[in-house]
Formats: sequence, structure tokens, C-alpha cells
Amino acid sequence: MSAAIKTVEALVDAGLSDGVGLDAVAARYAIAITPDVAALIDAADPDDPIARQFVPDAAELVTTPEERADPIGDLSHSPVEGIVHRYPDRVLLKAVHVCPVYCRFCFRREMVGPQGLGTLTATELDAAIAYIADHAEIWEVILTGGDPLVLSPRRLRDIMERLADIEHLKIVRFHTRVPVVEPDRVDGDMVAAFKASGKTTYLAVHANHPREFTPQAKAALARLADGGVVLVSQSVLLRGVNDDVDTLADLMKAFVENRVKPYYLHHPDLAPGTSHFRLGIEEGQQLVSALRGRISGLAQPTYVLDIPGGHGKAEIGASAISGGDGCFTVRDWQGGDHRYPP
Ligand code: SF4
Repeated sequence: MSAAIKTVEALVDAGLSDGVGLDAVAARYAIAITPDVAALIDAADPDDPIARQFVPDAAELVTTPEERADPIGDLSHSPVEGIVHRYPDRVLLKAVHVCPVYCRFCFRREMVGPQGLGTLTATELDAAIAYIADHAEIWEVILTGGDPLVLSPRRLRDIMERLADIEHLKIVRFHTRVPVVEPDRVDGDMVAAFKASGKTTYLAVHANHPREFTPQAKAALARLADGGVVLVSQSVLLRGVNDDVDTLADLMKAFVENRVKPYYLHHPDLAPGTSHFRLGIEEGQQLVSALRGRISGLAQPTYVLDIPGGHGKAEIGASAISGGDGCFTVRDWQGGDHRYPP
């Protein structure tokens, strides 16, 4: 099997880019494209929606005033290394900050990659798990990062066994791109590692375009579903990738057909160098409203944004938020109102 593409030179050699202007992008943001994703890219199409997600672009060097390094405010809610405790009943556990691919629109792009926050040391992981054990209000742990499925089945099993010992914890959720971008990694050992006595394991699968559902990806999702892992989706609404009703409808139907319940459709976050991916909230609302009439209720995602500053998620479907004077007002889960650019 060939290696992942991780340099501008390798991108050019693979015929995926002319490399112009990309050295400065590569100096700032990590690059990785797995062989499975490279094989999906139509290099003859300058607007290919798969390439747009993974092949770096000189537009990433443009940072707009509203963009910020920590767009969803992880750092302001981190009591110990690797833990984000934003809501009472759940925490993020960020064991790794490495991914098999680096999405060009990533909301944690300043934290992931070889120059990012790295992997928790054994001592840090001990402290993170001790934090969860010490907080009886924590019902759910969400392993995210980075992509936790870059860990070996042995390390995943070790984490699951330690979480299984925490009585008050009931749900373990993984956020991952792996079943789609490196499906062969999801083998029997990995599926078995997700089982933990007394816990229910959810896996939120990140995919943004129906073409990502290759035969290999479908087989990986089937292994997970057959292995007892509950699958939900997460997608990002992205200019030039899925900002039309036909693509979104096909994407959501592909999730459902592969036993993945549509869960979140994220408005793109205000991450640095990502303005070429963003569309307006009103346009997003129109797309989501159009989906209602097109596809089954089973296939409807919830349209959300993460409120900058770490205030959590807000639903932003047309009926959920208010506009006026050029800005939207979004309400956080504690009833606080926040202004958000249109
Ligand atoms: S897989 Fe997730 S964390 Fe990794 S680069 Fe993509 S969006 Fe970011």
C-alpha cells in the first residue's frame, strides 16, 4: 500500500496540485491525504469536492478579522490537559492531536498535526481519566482530537477498559474520519476494542460528500454496526463541497443507508484561513429548509454552530435564531445571547 501524501512535493508528484504558493501553507498547517482519499480525487476537475477538502490552497494564508485560533473555545474549559469540560454531564477527552488526513477547514487546525498539541503522555492520560472518575456528574466521554482512531486497537482497548471501571460513566463516544478516509484500519480488533462492560459506545462519523461512501468505507461502517457500535453522523456545511440541496440530500441518505443516523450539520467555524469555505447562515438555513421537503425525517440533521468563546452549540435552523441589524443573535444552553456575524 502506498504512503499518505504529506508534503507539497508529494502533492505535485501525485498530480494533485501545481504546488504554487503552498510552501507557506505547509509551513503553517499540516498536510495529509491517505491513499484512499487520493484515489477518490478527480484531478481533472478543478472544482472536485474531495480535493477541495484535503488539498491545500493558497487561500488558507488569508486570515479574516473574525477568525480565531481556538474558534470553539476549547482552551477556556480545560481543567486538566486533554479534557474539555464545557457542559456538566459530558467531557471531551483529547488523547491525540494527530489525524490520518488534515481537512483544510478544520476547526482545530491550530492544535492538530505534527506541530500541534501532540499526544497525551501516560501521566497526562492518567490525570485525565482520574478527572472523569472524580466527577460523578460526567455521564458521557467524547474521544476526539485529532482522530482517536489513529490509536492502535491495543491502546483503544486500554482506554475503554479504564473507562469501564468508572461506574457513573455510561456513554463513550468517538469522533472520527477514519471509517471514510482509512477504512481498512477498522478491522475486527478495533471493533472489538470498542466494547466496554456496562457502557454504550457511539461513533460519530465525519463525512461531507456522498462520494466519500466508497465500497471500502461502506464495509468499514458495516463492521462497526455489526459489532454493536451505534453510528451517528457529523458533517460540515462547506462552500464548494456540499452547499447544494442535491449533494446534501445524497449525503444524508448515504449515512442512513449505511446505518449512520444523521446527527449534526455544522456551520463552518471561524478557524483561521477558512473563509473560502464559509457561507452565510441565511444560505445555510435555506439549504436545510429545502432538505425538509426532499428527504425522510430519518435523514434530517440538526443544523448547529459552535458559539465562539466556548459557549457551546446552538441550533441555527430558521426557526431557532433571530436576525436583525446585520447580525444574528444565538442563544447558548444557559440562556445567554451572543452576537454572530451573518
Ligand atoms: S479529521 Fe477532524 S480533527 Fe482531523 S483535521 Fe479533519 S476535521 Fe480536523
